[in-house]
Formats: sequence, structure tokens, C-alpha cells
Amino acid sequence: MRSTDVVIIGAGAAGLMCAFSAAARGRQVLLIDHANKAGKKILMSGGGRCNFTNLYAEPANFLSQNPHFCKSALARYTQWDFIAMVAKHGVPYHEKKLGQLFCDNKSSDILEMLLEECNQVNVDLRLDTSVQHIEKTEAGYLLNTSMGQVSCQSLVVATGGLSIPTLGATGFGYQIARQFGHEVLATRAGLVPFTITDQLKELCTELSGTSVDCLVSCNDQSFRENILFTHRGLSGPAILQISSFWHPGDTVEINLLPDHDALAWLQQQQAERPNSELKTLLGEIFTKKMANLLTEHWFVSKPMKQYTPAELREVADKLGAWQVVPAGTEGYRTAEVTLGGVDTREVSSKTLESLKSPGLYFVGEVLDVSGHLGGFNFQWAWASGYAAAQFV
Ligand SMILES: Cc1cc2nc3c(=O)[nH]c(=O)nc-3n(C[C@H](O)[C@H](O)[C@H](O)COP(=O)(O)OP(=O)(O)OC[C@H]3O[C@@H](n4cnc5c(N)ncnc54)[C@H](O)[C@@H]3O)c2cc1C
Repeated sequence: MRSTDVVIIGAGAAGLMCAFSAAARGRQVLLIDHANKAGKKILMSGGGRCNFTNLYAEPANFLSQNPHFCKSALARYTQWDFIAMVAKHGVPYHEKKLGQLFCDNKSSDILEMLLEECNQVNVDLRLDTSVQHIEKTEAGYLLNTSMGQVSCQSLVVATGGLSIPTLGATGFGYQIARQFGHEVLATRAGLVPFTITDQLKELCTELSGTSVDCLVSCNDQSFRENILFTHRGLSGPAILQISSFWHPGDTVEINLLPDHDALAWLQQQQAERPNSELKTLLGEIFTKKMANLLTEHWFVSKPMKQYTPAELREVADKLGAWQVVPAGTEGYRTAEVTLGGVDTREVSSKTLESLKSPGLYFVGEVLDVSGHLGGFNFQWAWASGYAAAQFV
């Protein structure tokens, strides 16, 4: 039987950070992953360029049933700490927009940096390794793994959420949590495209690939960003953001003219350009194809002077407050995060240690903490992994 100070299950963003930060304190760390590669999500992230943090990360960027929980860890390992490590390794990066920091080159720059940090402090990384059974002992935990029995003082669960099973996601972390008496809050896909099946589907299909700046709102939350029409429905950053606040049956409101008061704008156009057709005016804001399709599907295009005040109000309602009821989401197959998870009310916000089973820790996405789109989810993985590493 092998014995070590710390076993971490899951060599993703949070597990890697926790591993080298604990080993840097002199702890002997075994990092286990069932996948054949560490950090597969890091490699896939940010369209291959890894949006590794956000300049404006703060607790308000996170969803949880216990919104105060994330504050402590985020304050003790900030975006500036991670940026300093990126700079130390000479990884080139840039701000794309809204404080989102991306690699200039490839996501693998970030993964290689984390693996190098692990290497420098002798983290024992074992891939293709599964854990079959865990039990509590007097001294800590005993694990039956595909590499034999391992005992440890501290066990860290860094197995992530359920999104993208093909990248190694499993519900194993939730299973461990339940085994040791933890509540696991209902999980659902977040940061995920909407599917549309009603008469709107045709418009989405016809406009597939078109992206447009909008203000998207649902359940008292609003995001101003692009939406993207797809063959299956709606995607793009504004849709992904609002999806985390959406529940089945909810209506999503899309303002296609976020820079204008739609009715005032239409009335002004009617006064100033009475002979112009609606689709011509819309073609100056949207692409010509989109202007044509919107008018074809929603309105009768005619010269502005021919619209009655009631008709103009109908057009304004549609453009300024388009009501969409998605059929659903694309689910864990494409979701960037899992909402819900291990209830943080049973975990110490300072140490990330279980309040039910001493020596057991939860870090990263397995917990009921999910970030907005824009580098916040990685920042949570880094911060929570680092926080736990100070105590394991
Ligand atoms: C396509 C995509 C793009 C994304 N882009 C971004 C982005 O640009 N910026 C951002 O901030 N966030 C992004 N995210 C979200 C981000 O990747 C996650 O929030 C983050 O990786 C969570 O870190 P984690 O360590 O908790 O979990 P993960 O990184 O998912 O790591 C969990 C690890 O546990 C392992 N594991 C799971 N089950 C077991 C088991 N039973 N036994 C052993 N090992 C197991 C997995 O193989 C995996 O290596 C993206 C997500 C996706 C899916």
C-alpha cells in the first residue's frame, strides 16, 4: 500500500493548481485522473486560446445558492496572482474584450505552465487511473485505485462538473460528496446554447451563422453582447450568459436595437425618411440578409409613411423586446459549466474543507459555484484550488 500526504482526484484546472500549490508547501501530492491527459478542458477552452481569467473578476460574477461563499478564496488568490504566474512563464496574452484575457497562441501554453509548476515541486501525476472505492480511516482516507491502495491524510475532490462527458466529465465528485454526508444541489447545464423547435426554428436556420449585438434579458438579468443564430436555435455570448439564469418555460427577451428606443427610432425614421421601406432601414443596422428575413417573417415591408401608429408599435415591440421561449438547451453535451453541485453551506469557505468529514476538500466546478462567461470559471478553479492547498 502506498501512503502520501495528499491525494487529489481530477487533474483539471483546480486539481493542477491545488497540486503544485500544496507541494510547494512541502506536502507530498499524488494527483490522479482517469483521463489519458491532464487539463483537457483547458486545451478546449476559449476556442483554443483559453480565456484564463478576467481583469474584473469579483464575487458578483458568480452564481451560487450561497453567494458569499466564493469571496474568501477569490480574495486570497486573485486574477493578478494568476496573471503574475502567466507573466513569469513568459506566456503571451492579450485582453480580447470586457477584461477577458486570452493566450496569444494556444491554450496549451497555460496547461504546459501548470504542468511545469507541478514538475518543479515533484507532484506525482498519474493519468489513466481510476478510483473504485474510498473509505475514511483514523488517519485520513484509504482509496482503492487502479494503481493499488493509497492512503492519505487529505483527499481533494477536483473532478469538475458534468459538462462535456467526452472530455472526461463524470458525476464522481457528487458521488463522493454524498458518500460523506454532503448535500448535492440539483445540477443543470449553464453557459449553453438554446434549442428552438417552434415556428422560430425556420428563421434561426435561415440566419444560421449570423451574429448581432443585442441586449438579452431573463429573470431580472441582462447581458449586452452578441447573439448567434444557429441551425438548432440561438447561441453566442449573450445567450450563453443568460442561459445560466433561464429555467424551462421562461421567456427570454431580446432587444435587437440596444442602442435605440425602438419606437422613438421608428417614429423618427417615419418623419425623416417617409418613402424608405422598413427593410431598407433595417438593412443599415443588420446585414441585408437579416433585414430581409426579419421583415419577411415578422412584418409587411412597405414605405415608412404607410405604417399606422399601431403597426409601428408592433414593429417596435418585435425589434426592441422580441419574446423567445426556448424549447430547451443543448445540455451537458456543449455546456461550458454545470450549475449547482456540492452545497457550499457544508464546506468551509476559508479552507474548502468538508464540514462533515475532516480531511476531505472540494475545489473547482464540483462545488455549487459557477461563473459568468469570460474567464471567471477558471479564476474560480485557480482560487479555490490555491485556497485548499494552504490547508491540505
Ligand atoms: C468547451 C469549454 C470551453 C471553456 N472555456 C472556458 C474559458 O475560456 N474560460 C473559463 O474561465 N472557463 C471556460 N470553461 C469552463 C472551465 O473549463 C471549467 O469551469 C474548469 O475547467 C473547471 O475546472 P475543474 O478543475 O473544476 O474541472 P475540470 O477542468 O473539468 O477537471 C476535472 C478533471 O477531473 C477528471 N475526472 C472526472 N471524473 C473523474 C473520475 N471519476 N476519476 C478521475 N478523474 C476524474 C477529469 O478527467 C478532469 O481532468 C470552458 C468549458 C468548456 C467545456
